[in-house]
Amino acid sequence: MTSLCKEKEKCFICGKTSEFTGVMSTSSSDLPDLDTRPSEMKRSTLQYWIRRCPSCGYCADQISHGDGKTAAIVKGEVYHQQLADPAYPELANSFLCRAMIQADVGNHAEAGWAALHAAWVCDDHKPGMASACRSKAIQLFQGAMETGETISEETGVAEAVMADLYRRTGQFEKAQMVCLSALFKPLPELITQVLTYQKALTERQDMKGHTVSQAVEYAKISESRKPHS
Ligand SMILES: [Zn+2]
Repeated sequence: MTSLCKEKEKCFICGKTSEFTGVMSTSSSDLPDLDTRPSEMKRSTLQYWIRRCPSCGYCADQISHGDGKTAAIVKGEVYHQQLADPAYPELANSFLCRAMIQADVGNHAEAGWAALHAAWVCDDHKPGMASACRSKAIQLFQGAMETGETISEETGVAEAVMADLYRRTGQFEKAQMVCLSALFKPLPELITQVLTYQKALTERQDMKGHTVSQAVEYAKISESRKPHS
């Protein structure tokens, strides 16, 4: 069950106070999608993961916080173009603006996650733009890897997400390479199952969204088909 609340927050940039909806608690009834997108009920809280100041357009998970450079970015023309880009749903623009800020202040991993969240919004409301968001996420996560940032604290999750991003943008060879090199490393069993399933999807050139539950099911079926010695 999801429990919501109303919260007032003062904008770090313009100083105006606005009311937002906060998530007090939520839960997931099933395992997530292969790219970590949670199942319901948490899945439906995506719209509350980002706040947009109605006065200046600052987008953040907490608009009362920011970096010294943030104001200049938020006041810039490029930022405002993204904020009102008619090609994307409004919520996706908020996440893409957050990605822009985080990338500019050097948090490429955070920026990558924000771009992935924009992709999830597009999956639901404008599927034709999801690929563009995923391409941005790839670029940002690559930047994070180059600068040694942590994409996820959990072993193998960064590789699993990268493989999914490549597959869902039709870059099957790259997805395959990420899976193969990750599968050489010691990984938690669930991640091994996810990457093995991801590799199979890549071989079929499947670009659709799939779940971790499907990966577990695939592992069970593969195990049962193994010849017994
Ligand atoms: Zn503001």
